[in-house]
Amino acid sequence: MKKLSVLVVDDSKVQRNHVIDMCKNYGMQIVIGATDGEDAIDKLTSCSFDLVFIDLEMPIMDGVELVREIAKKDLAKSVIILSSKDPALILSVGTMAEADGLTVLGTFKKPMTRLYLDASLKRIDNNKNKQTANNVFNTDLGADSLIEAIKNKEISLVYQPKITSKGFLLKGVEALARWQHPTLGNIAPDEFINIAERFGLICELTEYLFDLAFQQKKYWKEHGINCELSLNLSPLSLADKNLANWISNHALQYQLTPREITLEVTENAISGDIPSAIETLAKLRLKGFNLSIDDYGTGFANAQQLARVPATELKLDRSLIDRVATRPQQQAIVRSTINLAKELHLSTVAEGVEDLGDFVFLRDLEVDLVQGYYFAKPMPANMLANWLNYDLTVIRKQFLSKSTD
Ligand code: C2E
Ligand code: CA
Repeated sequence: MKKLSVLVVDDSKVQRNHVIDMCKNYGMQIVIGATDGEDAIDKLTSCSFDLVFIDLEMPIMDGVELVREIAKKDLAKSVIILSSKDPALILSVGTMAEADGLTVLGTFKKPMTRLYLDASLKRIDNNKNKQTANNVFNTDLGADSLIEAIKNKEISLVYQPKITSKGFLLKGVEALARWQHPTLGNIAPDEFINIAERFGLICELTEYLFDLAFQQKKYWKEHGINCELSLNLSPLSLADKNLANWISNHALQYQLTPREITLEVTENAISGDIPSAIETLAKLRLKGFNLSIDDYGTGFANAQQLARVPATELKLDRSLIDRVATRPQQQAIVRSTINLAKELHLSTVAEGVEDLGDFVFLRDLEVDLVQGYYFAKPMPANMLANWLNYDLTVIRKQFLSKSTD
């Protein structure tokens, strides 16, 4: 920790020296100041730094521009963002920096304190540990293991209910992939989807999973469970010009109609200028499939970008939902997102509802659907009927009796 080299960028001499002194007292090896963005770029190109403190309000080149330059030119790996402005603004610049590939150790309202510094520097260690763990993981798992896993049917699907916030009716289920590796055990979907994307196997994986899900949906339909089926689509799949036809033909083979199926794509898939993604989404929508914008609140799609996607549903990410009942800043975001969705005629889903208080808050805001551990964890297909007949009935009775008390 003590060997870190640090650049402190702030136009205020007092604030700059305050952070420089703090870092020196911490025992950091090299601590240098820069007076504005341009000065910082000069220093970053001539010398390498482990960590850069960035003040957002500066003359010549402001902190927001500096963050982007650092990310674009790969001038540093980690940053701490500081400002005397609104914490929401600092947070949003932090989110932008993360999306640009920088590690944001902290975003703080000035003045910087020793407590903030401690918390931020701990994250450097955590990130190092995570990277080490990933490296170990990645040497064991590559394209070959994933191809084998698909061939040997080691990857399966579990299903998580999406229920109406008023009335507690089962509206649909989301299919979520699980890989039970014969020697390594459970592998998280984020991990193997990433492998599939990196090794060009996402089409094979998607087709395999859609086939499993469609079979299951057909079975449920024949046995009287008529809920919609939601499936996740990797943003990379959207570049495939044949995807819409393939999904449509495949659904037909299982006698499924498009309106029974929702395709979830992450917000980031639509936040750039991505005509091929929009083209695939438009084709799917024309065929009658429902389209959901997933993980909303983690990316940068603005209202205009949302409006140009032919979506039918907006899914608020669980980071926005988590403890929303007690967090006024999050409440404002959730409230305005739900209002925006309503204006755009999108139905809303709150994902990751774990707590009664959060649920009540969301129901009062008239979110259409809820999904989360509070109601049901993702479950194997053969458990859905039981959950529906027993657990959901209990939930419904509990709430409906409370509302008449
Ligand atoms: P996602 O689409 O945002 O899925 C929701 C994730 O939140 C799931 O994690 C789910 O198990 C988890 N979750 C649901 N309710 C709660 C809750 O109340 N609390 C908490 N803490 N978590 C909750 P999971 O299954 O690990 O999936 C992670 C991500 O992997 C998914 O995020 C999705 O992006 C991706 N993924 C999963 N299955 C597939 C798939 O079949 N295809 C593709 N392309 N991606 C998939
Ligand atoms: Ca999803």
